[in-house]
Amino acid sequence: MTANETATKAAKLTGVKGMNDVLPPDSAGVEWLEAEVRALMARYAYRNIRTPIVERTPLFTRGLGEVTDIVEKEMYTFEDRLNGDSLTLRPECTAGVVRSVVEHSLLYDGGKRFYYMGPMFRHERPQRGRYRQFDQIGAEALGFGGAEVDAELILLAVALWRELGLNDVRLEINSLGQPEERLQHRQALIAHLEIHADLLDDDARRRLHSNPLRILDTKNPVMQGLVDAAPRLLDFLGEASLAHFNALKTILDANGVAYTVNPRLVRGMDYYNLTVFEFVTDRLGSQGTVCAGGRYDYLVEQLGGKPAPAVGWALGVDRVLALVREQGGAEVVVPLDAYAVVAQTSALPVVLLTLQTLRNAGVSVQMHASAGDSMGSMKSQFKRADASGAHYALIFGDDEVAQYRVTIKSLRDGTGTQTSQPLADIAVWAPTLQSRT
Ligand code: ATP
Ligand code: MG
Repeated sequence: MTANETATKAAKLTGVKGMNDVLPPDSAGVEWLEAEVRALMARYAYRNIRTPIVERTPLFTRGLGEVTDIVEKEMYTFEDRLNGDSLTLRPECTAGVVRSVVEHSLLYDGGKRFYYMGPMFRHERPQRGRYRQFDQIGAEALGFGGAEVDAELILLAVALWRELGLNDVRLEINSLGQPEERLQHRQALIAHLEIHADLLDDDARRRLHSNPLRILDTKNPVMQGLVDAAPRLLDFLGEASLAHFNALKTILDANGVAYTVNPRLVRGMDYYNLTVFEFVTDRLGSQGTVCAGGRYDYLVEQLGGKPAPAVGWALGVDRVLALVREQGGAEVVVPLDAYAVVAQTSALPVVLLTLQTLRNAGVSVQMHASAGDSMGSMKSQFKRADASGAHYALIFGDDEVAQYRVTIKSLRDGTGTQTSQPLADIAVWAPTLQSRT
């Protein structure tokens, strides 16, 4: 290439940092996970809800809490150029689901169970297991106050780990009690932290009076000792909160679900109360939380609805799939029955008609496509057929097409067996392309 040609070549465009393409074969893993989830949700009577990716900004500032990582520094917020509205790419989906439930009065005839899947957006520092666009799958049950629904959601997640072949996910639970209990704990906590104010980092100092509970969630090792010695919220719970927590534990015990009570487990969003939980693994380094959730009994009311209790969880698709891979989970292979090899472009009308019939009959076929003018040598086409992973090559050579036939060559059994079949009898031989020996 001459200097001139180089200069006129268009500059390469790249994707946005932290927002990744999911390419084959990895995309097949995502489809597989989604299919497993859909099947499972149906068995638990959770229905799909699809809310927009963009919501009005106040939904999140009001819903998640002003003093949270997400609202303080992670939201993609922009102005609608046409009317000046402040809009935000959803950083999570619970707020959107609640907005939708309130907007459409979905709880008028009783509680509802929903699940969703889709991309979320947070302006975080990209690293393994932490991206700026990432897929979440979530389940939400609204209008139910009993601990049995907390348990149902946890059992649903446990069932999903089983379906996916994951056995290295452990469950941590905690209770955040009710607002008035948290208030008392909060005072004790602030008092404790103030005594050791010199040990607090900047984030913690800023949150000392606005959101001290979140300080307990710190990842700063210097503060671990201080946080370990802090008053425990569990010790401030009243009778009703403890009863709810115990009811959950009783059901989990009866179902053989192992868990540990982690009194320091708090969640990133302000809307949680009573039950909170996380599914954690040690196999993904520091990004070990694969699924997290809890109760949010006040969010519906806070977003303008009639008071209604609710509980839910969300899992990170990337982290769950990374764990599947880490545990040697079956690589998802999309099967291909046949690859069509075509000698002359003049045969293409007959070839496409034949392939259409095969596909209607359920056979998966990849058609060899030309560079534009010729189909290319048969040799190069057979190479492609081999590389495609197809079980059979369908050979549309000159002789075959002249006789209105096709040669079927086995590519995978090592014998290279060939049979010749009339196109007129396609209904008879099509099913054999799907049978594996
Ligand atoms: P973390 O403590 O890891 O930041 P979080 O408390 O922000 O998690 P949630 O908002 O509860 O997480 O989201 C639920 C799940 O979504 C997480 O457990 C994780 O699996 C996934 N997740 C959250 N943020 C990201 C991200 N930036 N990239 C990829 N997955 C994420
Ligand atoms: Mg986070």
